[in-house]
Amino acid sequence: MNSADKIYHLAIPGVQQLIPYKPGKPIEELEREFGLTRVIKLASNENPLGPGKKALAAIQSILKDMALYPDGSGFGLKHALAVKYAVESDQITLGNGSNEILELAARAFLTPGLEVIFSQHAFAVYPIVTQAVGATAVVVTAVKYGHDLEAMLESVTEKTRIVFIANPNNPTGTLLSQTALESFISALPESCVCVLDEAYFEFVSSAEPIDSIDWLKTYPNLIITRTFSKAYGLAGLRVGYGLSSPQIADILNRVRQPFNNNALALAAAEAALTDSEHLQQTIATNARGMEQLTDGFKNLGLEWIPSAGNFVLVDLKRLAQPVYEALLRKGVIVRPVANYGLPNHLRISIGTHEENRLFLKALTDSLQDV
Ligand SMILES: *Cc1c(COP(=O)(O)O)cnc(C)c1O
Repeated sequence: MNSADKIYHLAIPGVQQLIPYKPGKPIEELEREFGLTRVIKLASNENPLGPGKKALAAIQSILKDMALYPDGSGFGLKHALAVKYAVESDQITLGNGSNEILELAARAFLTPGLEVIFSQHAFAVYPIVTQAVGATAVVVTAVKYGHDLEAMLESVTEKTRIVFIANPNNPTGTLLSQTALESFISALPESCVCVLDEAYFEFVSSAEPIDSIDWLKTYPNLIITRTFSKAYGLAGLRVGYGLSSPQIADILNRVRQPFNNNALALAAAEAALTDSEHLQQTIATNARGMEQLTDGFKNLGLEWIPSAGNFVLVDLKRLAQPVYEALLRKGVIVRPVANYGLPNHLRISIGTHEENRLFLKALTDSLQDV
């Protein structure tokens, strides 16, 4: 082994074997590779309407203050979230994206020898943060692409310290009922922290109201994570948050960097919370787009997994990679999900009406090409 390779052995065991998260392909990269000028990205569940006007105005108004450190306590944003969700500010942990909350939880609660439970086909960040701290991942087989809560509960041992649940789940879009979820959480031992990842909860139909915040009163071991990256259209700024008991928030805040949220992110997120018009428009665009895409799949004779999020998994009934590549050549970026154990599916983020139309056309052509 040469000395460059030996350096890898200095990393802790989990990191030596770690395969980093693979993000959706950036638009500029595809434009460079294929010399394309019009590229559509429906790959990272971003808001196709962009950020709202209020968030943009808030950013503009504080640009002049960029020489100053941000408010490390995030007072304004926490206060606005506390009012919105009727919790106390000391129950909130702000993160550089909700991804950071997942990572803070892993760093604060895990050590080698402890176990973490999550579902097959669940969000790719759970195995990464688990492995990075040397804890043991216990992956529970999915049922109908969704979480098997009974089997997850049966997998709990005295070594289990975290259970990750994404609801709705990414990439499958599956949604657990609130009743099933609450009885799962109530059956967990208090020694096991439940991280309920609600990155897409704003898109869940009001026919299935989400009442997880009420559960915080009863379960001190519950962390709910949410984000400004999806429905609020601020993915580029990196801002998300955890809601929990004050004790868990205190623990998470101990391992958090003092200035983990930049000043633009704090200001934009706080303003975005007041922009219900943009949020409603986003939700309506998503609902119409979901119908447009699934109608298109139906016309093509394709099946899909019903999704509660702002994306949908379509089943091509054959290897998806060649179709993914054919779509790239036509300037459309979607997301292959073979790394989630779903080699025949593609995940499509819901776009604007025009983006969805162009995608469906490109898909129709690509299915004939390959
Ligand atoms: C997008 C996503 C997140 C969070 O993303 P951030 O941009 O870090 O807030 C978290 N969980 C799931 C399941 C997601 O899909």
